[in-house]
Amino acid sequence: MALMASKKDTITVRKTIKSFVILIAALMLLGACGQAAEISTAAQPSQTAPSVSPSESQAAPTPIVTTRPDNTQTAQPSVTDEPSPSAVTTPPKTTEKPAQPSSSRPPVSAASGTPLSGIVIGIDPGHQAHANSEQEPVAPGSDETKKKVSSGTQGRFTGVAEYKVNLQVGLKLKDLLTGLGAEVVMTRESNDVNISNKERAEMMNAAGADLVIRIHCNGNDDQSVHGAFMLVPSNDCTSSINDASKKAGRRIIDAFCAVTGAKNLGLQARSDQTGFNWSTVPVCNIEMGYMTNEDEDKLLVSDDYQTLCAQGIANGIADYFG
Ligand SMILES: [Zn+2]
Repeated sequence: MALMASKKDTITVRKTIKSFVILIAALMLLGACGQAAEISTAAQPSQTAPSVSPSESQAAPTPIVTTRPDNTQTAQPSVTDEPSPSAVTTPPKTTEKPAQPSSSRPPVSAASGTPLSGIVIGIDPGHQAHANSEQEPVAPGSDETKKKVSSGTQGRFTGVAEYKVNLQVGLKLKDLLTGLGAEVVMTRESNDVNISNKERAEMMNAAGADLVIRIHCNGNDDQSVHGAFMLVPSNDCTSSINDASKKAGRRIIDAFCAVTGAKNLGLQARSDQTGFNWSTVPVCNIEMGYMTNEDEDKLLVSDDYQTLCAQGIANGIADYFG
């Protein structure tokens, strides 16, 4: 019995051991699955994470790149628009003109009424009794310099200095324009002054002139050269006034030649004129004739012809603002 009992006990022990071994094996399997699960869970985030960041970094650049060009494109126009506003600054003045135009156009030649009421006209009779050869910049920010005021030409036959003729016509023009209702501002009313071309432009800017007319006569080695023409600004630094100046210049030279009978040599665009480059208001420069041509020299120094010159310029100005 003792044997039998011990055998039974042994069998029971063996069964217990088997069950225990099975249990342990089962537990080990579970443990392995758990680890696998951890690995897979760990793998998932690592897959998600990288898949997100690359897609963002790829997605981000693309839209930003397309956006930036768009922004730059929109910015560029606004930069190029900047000149327009200043060009628009000129038209407003043009809109002021039509304010008194309907009655001004027809009677302009008769110089009746006050069609230029409310308009400021600058007159710059070119040169002065004594030249000033000190230098000044030809344009804002430019290293190039020119004489502050040159001596001008003089009558080859009459011997009269250009600066005198310029002032005589300028003063007659002042009277005519004042009669038409304009407010007239002059750079000089005598020959004994010392005002540089840059300073003359700045005077007109400060006066808020709607238009400036610079009055000159020309000279040439060839005595047969004759006729009148108009210089107009064409520099980049005067881009805001180039169009208006050209328009006014055309009206004035046509009216001038119609009244005086001078040969019309048209417009000449210039970027090298100190008096233009420093101007912020529309400006043009009439060359009324050649004092080196005998006929024109004698005409230009005569009071009657000077009156015609002034009348022609006044007509052109009234036409421009009409
Ligand atoms: Zn001159």
